[in-house]
Amino acid sequence: MASAPTPDDAAAERRPAVTRKVTRHRGEGQWAMGHFTPLNANEQSKKDDDGLNVRTRIETIYAHRGFDSIDPADLRGRMRWWGLYTQRKPGIDGGKTAILEPHELDDEYFMLRIRIDGGRLTTAQLRAIGEVSATYARGSADITDRQNIQLHWIRIEDVPAIWQKLEAVGLSTTEACGDCPRVIIGSPVAGIAEDEIIDGSWAVDEIHERYIGNKEFSNLPRKFKTAVSGSPVQDVVHEINDIAFVGVVHPEHGPGFDVWVGGGLSTNPRLAERLGAWVPLEQVPDVWAGVVGIFRDYGYRRLRTRARLKFLMADWGPAKFRQVLEDDYLKTPLIDGPAPAEPSTRWRDHVGVHPQKDGRFYVGFSPKVGRVDGTTLAAIADAAAAHGSDRLRTTVEQKMIVLDVEGDRVDSLVAALEALDLQVRPSSFRRGTIACTGIEYCKLAIVETKGRGQDLIADLEKRLPDFDQPISININGCPNACARVQTGDIGLKGQLVLNADGEQVEGFQVHLGGTLGFQAGFGRKIRGHKVTADELPDYVERVLRRFDQERTED
Ligand code: SF4
Repeated sequence: MASAPTPDDAAAERRPAVTRKVTRHRGEGQWAMGHFTPLNANEQSKKDDDGLNVRTRIETIYAHRGFDSIDPADLRGRMRWWGLYTQRKPGIDGGKTAILEPHELDDEYFMLRIRIDGGRLTTAQLRAIGEVSATYARGSADITDRQNIQLHWIRIEDVPAIWQKLEAVGLSTTEACGDCPRVIIGSPVAGIAEDEIIDGSWAVDEIHERYIGNKEFSNLPRKFKTAVSGSPVQDVVHEINDIAFVGVVHPEHGPGFDVWVGGGLSTNPRLAERLGAWVPLEQVPDVWAGVVGIFRDYGYRRLRTRARLKFLMADWGPAKFRQVLEDDYLKTPLIDGPAPAEPSTRWRDHVGVHPQKDGRFYVGFSPKVGRVDGTTLAAIADAAAAHGSDRLRTTVEQKMIVLDVEGDRVDSLVAALEALDLQVRPSSFRRGTIACTGIEYCKLAIVETKGRGQDLIADLEKRLPDFDQPISININGCPNACARVQTGDIGLKGQLVLNADGEQVEGFQVHLGGTLGFQAGFGRKIRGHKVTADELPDYVERVLRRFDQERTED
C-alpha cells in the first residue's frame, strides 16, 4: 500500500504546540501527549495512508479491475472517507452478525452516502440523485436522519461515473463517512423561516469550503458530527452532536450562537454540554476548527470505543474544554452568553405548510421512515419545479421540504405530493417514526427495521385513528443507535429475544420516555422490557393507549 504517513510533517506543523499538562490519561493514545504510535488496527490504517487518498485508487485501479482488486484495508476502512461502505450480503440472519468474519458479511455492492450539508438541495441536484439511483442503485434511496441521502447496490465499476454526475451539480460524497468531519447538519428552514433567530447558512458553507476534504482534519480519532441551527424550533438534534451552534440573542451583542460540545449516542450516550459562550456568525468556522483541533490532538485513540469527543468532554468538563479552546487554539477569549430558550414547538420536523419571511410558504412532507426511490425523487423535483420552486431541504427526521411556494399554489403542490404518497398532513405515527438502515443492508444489524417501520405505521394508523399527539418511535437494528434509540418517546433497539415458545427471534429492547428539546433526556431502559418483532404493534398500541388515557396537559 502506498503510504503517506499520518500524521505527516505538514499536519504536525499545523498542530499547536501543546504546553498544557495532562496527567490522567497518558495511556489514551492522545497525539497531544506524544502518542503517535498507532495503538489499534484502525489507527494503523489511518497512519498507513490518509483516507482521502483512496479516491485515486478507486478511479485508476478498482473501478477498472473490479471488486476483487480492492485492498482489504481500503475496502473496510478508507473507502468510507468517500461515502462507501460494503453492504450486507443478503440472507444472513442477525444471529450471525457477531459471529462471522467481516469478509463473510461483505457483499460486492456498496452503500453510497451523499452528503447534503444543511440539507439543502436544488431541483437539479435532486433530479441528479434520482437519476443516479435509477441508473446505478436499483432505484434505492433513503433519506437519513442526518439529512443525507443513501443509495444501495452500487458497483465499484460505476463509482467514478456516479461522482461525475453528482459533482456536476455541486454534490459530493467527500467525508460522508470515516473518521473525519461528517455532513454539517443545518436548520432545514435556514434563511427562510418567519421566526428565525439567525441564519447559519454562511457558517455551514464556510466550514465546508475551508475544511471538508482537507487533510488538516482527515485523521480524527473517530467521526465528528456538526449541527448549526438558528431556528427557535431547534431542529438539528443539537444535544447529540460533537459540536452544535444553537441560535440565541445576546442581550448586548444581538443574534448569534450558543456553543454545545460533546454529545453522542451509541452504547455510551451523552448529551452535549454548553461551553457558556456566545459566538457571532463570522466566528463560527474558527470555533468549529478549534474544537475539531482539540478532538484531533487530545481525542482518545487507544480504544475505538472511547474515541468519540464525548469521552474527552466527560473527563475535562466544559470549563476546562473552553479554557483549552481559548488559550491554545483560538488565542482569544470567547464572549459569555445565555442559554437558548426551550424549543418553540414539540414537532421539529417542519412537516405541513408554514409561512416564510418573504410572504411565500414552505411545505414539509413525510415519506415513510425516509424510504423513497429514484423515480420518486425525480417526481418530487418535477412537482417542486412545476410549482415555481427550485429549492428543497432534507430534515433530521427523515422528511423533506419544498421551499418558496406562492400561496395560491400551495394546495396544488400538496395534492401533487400526496399523489406520490408523500403526506403533508400525516398521522402522528408516520410523522414521528424513524428507522435506521437495518438488516437489509447493514453489516452490524441484528434485525429488520425499514420494512418493519412502514408496517408499524400502517398498523397504528388503523388501530389508533384518532391519536394526534406528537410521538417519536425510533427503530434501530442494533445497539449503535443510528436512529437515536435513546431519544425517542419509544426507542427500539434491535436484538434477538425469546418468544413464548422459548425460540430466539428478532425483537427489541424498549427504551421509554426519551426526548430532545423540552427537558432533553434519555429514555429509560427497563430491565427485561423486550418485545418480539411480531408483538411490536400490540405493544406500541398498549403504551400509546395508556399514555393517551393518563397523560396530563402538556
Ligand atoms: Fe446499522 Fe445498527 Fe446503525 Fe442500524 S443502528 S444502521 S443496524 S449500525
